[in-house]
Amino acid sequence: MRVYNFSAGPAVLPLEVLEKAQSEFVCFQDSGMSVMEMSHRSKAYSQIIEGTEAKLRQLMQIPDTYKVLFLQGGASLQFTMVPMNLMTGSKKADFIDTGVWSSKAIKEAKKFGKANVIASSKADTYSYIPTYKKEQFDKEADYVYICQNNTIYGTKFNTLPNTGNVPLVADLSSCILSEKMDVNRYGIIFAGAQKNLGPAGVTVVIIREDLIGRVDESIPTMLNYKTHAANDSMFNTPPTYAIYMLGLVLEWMLAQGGIEVIEKKNKEKASILYDYLDTSKLFRGTAAKEDRSLMNIPFVTGDETLDAAFVKAATAKGLVNLKGHRSVGGMRASIYNAMPIDGVKALVDFMKQFERQHEEGIL
Ligand SMILES: *Cc1c(COP(=O)(O)O)cnc(C)c1O
Repeated sequence: MRVYNFSAGPAVLPLEVLEKAQSEFVCFQDSGMSVMEMSHRSKAYSQIIEGTEAKLRQLMQIPDTYKVLFLQGGASLQFTMVPMNLMTGSKKADFIDTGVWSSKAIKEAKKFGKANVIASSKADTYSYIPTYKKEQFDKEADYVYICQNNTIYGTKFNTLPNTGNVPLVADLSSCILSEKMDVNRYGIIFAGAQKNLGPAGVTVVIIREDLIGRVDESIPTMLNYKTHAANDSMFNTPPTYAIYMLGLVLEWMLAQGGIEVIEKKNKEKASILYDYLDTSKLFRGTAAKEDRSLMNIPFVTGDETLDAAFVKAATAKGLVNLKGHRSVGGMRASIYNAMPIDGVKALVDFMKQFERQHEEGIL
């Protein structure tokens, strides 16, 4: 039996996508073989990768002045590739520190230049997006960096920093395609696939063309964006099956009605859970209201033993992977695009029942 999987990642995939993949698993269309067995240079596979890129471009309205790359190494390798490729001018970059993932990016950037932290909410367990003034940004910086949706703490940037002519680099691993975004606002967008796009193994990088080739050829070939851009992500064998799965997820999104419909559903799902958290006497959300994420919703009862009892009881009801990240504790419901509204309703119904039983002293 399938459960409602609230994992932060790898995460739930649309059932229709899994079923389509299953139907094509052994033999893809008229190719006589599985996608996994195909040469990445075959005609059949070229159509898959080109189709995947085209669907992503359509869904996100990516301008022609941006390259789409399908890389490996996860979002974490981008923490290295970004400074390696971009910290080549003033060798300075500005960061807003909103959690573990931005801290890791800062740590890597320090290996290549000066990583200047403009603002941080670390002292309050990253429960909000810190404020900053436009004047704090260094006009000479090679880029400004943010992690737009903070998977662990359930916060997101509702407004992007205005960085002027300095390119904005954003980690969108846990929010890409969750709502409408203007690609023109960014220099580089990257996202590991296993949150909102598909299975683990492929990382999507959307990069403005003028940011490619800012570094000389002395850096490792595989870590140079230029290598992958010049070879349409085919310098070496790309993660062929993960890209195929990504293509199926994008096809599913288009069939749903595209980004506007997905955004509307995501807002509806998130508000079902937030509305309850705001009225519950037992549970409360841990992220600042004005910075709440649409995708990751952490909450607590305030009592660790009760939290653990809740997670255990929920699991028994087929509501799984609700345990919060170890740095925040409590619970976290990740409700990515593929989480059906019924999953969120089932969770809230269960929380209400748990709260009632707690009030009555049954627990
Ligand atoms: C999960 C996650 C990462 C790490 O991704 P990997 O693909 O495992 O390297 C980075 N940033 C954010 C925002 C994430 O949610």
